[in-house]
Amino acid sequence: MRMFLVEHAKVVMKVICPHCREKSTISSSNRISTCVIELYCQCENELCDAGFVMTLAHKHDTRPPKSQIDNVVAELVRRMSSEEKREVMKLLSVIT
Ligand SMILES: [Zn+2]
Repeated sequence: MRMFLVEHAKVVMKVICPHCREKSTISSSNRISTCVIELYCQCENELCDAGFVMTLAHKHDTRPPKSQIDNVVAELVRRMSSEEKREVMKLLSVIT
């Protein structure tokens, strides 16, 4: 399964038949969970004509969502002692 990012963040997936490696069409889908979906596919190669199911799943993040980063920073600040907060403020005043 190959994914291509095209204009305006529209994602087009190209599913390759696992039997003949020719292009296939996604005929329907079945969402198993928020992060997992089954894709029902039909091979376009008339000589193969296989039907099969591929699984599309979220594996891991390459960059966490901004909301998680904000939460991590807020939690770190909450856990800092007063002295640690003063040290951070000194560092920030040097940077800005
Ligand atoms: Zn095929």
